Amino acid sequence: MRLKDKVAIITGAASGIGEAAARLFVENGAFVVIADIQDELGDQVVSSIGPDKASYIHCDVTDEKQVEEAVAYALYKYGTLDIVYSNAGIVGSMRPILDIDMNEFENMIDVNVCGGAAMIKHAGRAMVARKIRGSIICTASATAIRGGIGPIDYTTSKHAILGLVHSASFELGSYGIRVNCVSPITVATPLTCKLPVFNNFCLDPELIEAFASVTLNLKGMVLKAKDVAEAALFLASEESSCISGHNIVIDGGLTCTSNIYPIDYVTLVI
Ligand code: NAD
Repeated sequence: MRLKDKVAIITGAASGIGEAAARLFVENGAFVVIADIQDELGDQVVSSIGPDKASYIHCDVTDEKQVEEAVAYALYKYGTLDIVYSNAGIVGSMRPILDIDMNEFENMIDVNVCGGAAMIKHAGRAMVARKIRGSIICTASATAIRGGIGPIDYTTSKHAILGLVHSASFELGSYGIRVNCVSPITVATPLTCKLPVFNNFCLDPELIEAFASVTLNLKGMVLKAKDVAEAALFLASEESSCISGHNIVIDGGLTCTSNIYPIDYVTLVI
């Protein structure tokens, strides 16, 4: 019960890593608001967790008003807001720089970066006003610290999240609010199973995991959404009460070696 009676908002929690975090946070005693654009899936996650512990709100993170409303909803429903996990994200079309579509690029930044900034802004305001020494966590990516292992627009957006986390942790530190992020390498979720490079053909999660596993430096390991959720749980809990501005890289040691696979490797292997 590492989050007993804490209240959390998790964006992008109708699926994948966010969903795993919602389940884990509730298992650890939290009340969770699932904020997403996939209403049906979001409602299903709430039903399976239990409506006494979780609730769903439609929140497109690119719409600042909806982000503000999600924060207001958590405060109204549960009376406080201790944790925000800004996790919603997209991967885009995977075009190389020479073919980049600027509208797609802007959309990527809008969802992955502006969405996170709006969430930190409104959650931060609510915490500051109520003197809550809260914890804010973002999902970046292993692509946040290395070029060439992901599409360029995605990589750019994830690098930007690190800047957002570093700066926000500095500014909100004055109020006792911590801001950190988690940076996973490939996990089999709907995001990776439907990568546009495969013409939106949905790959088996096992195939994605097999690919991910051979690229890792740490052998015999298959990274799961739950592993990322565990790192977010640590950052949400009191166990990390002195940690802020930090990026937990969950990649089995890959990005600290020179053995990083190029993005083309994805298509070669699968
Ligand atoms: P996912 O597709 O299962 O989950 C992403 C969720 O974000 C979905 O439920 C989706 O509806 C939601 N979302 C998308 N746009 C939104 C918007 N505008 N407003 C609100 N919600 C929105 O994918 P996932 O792999 O669980 O991704 C979660 C996060 O993890 C993303 O930020 C992703 O970039 C990051 N990430 C994933 C991997 C991986 O290999 N799966 C690796 C590194 C980082």
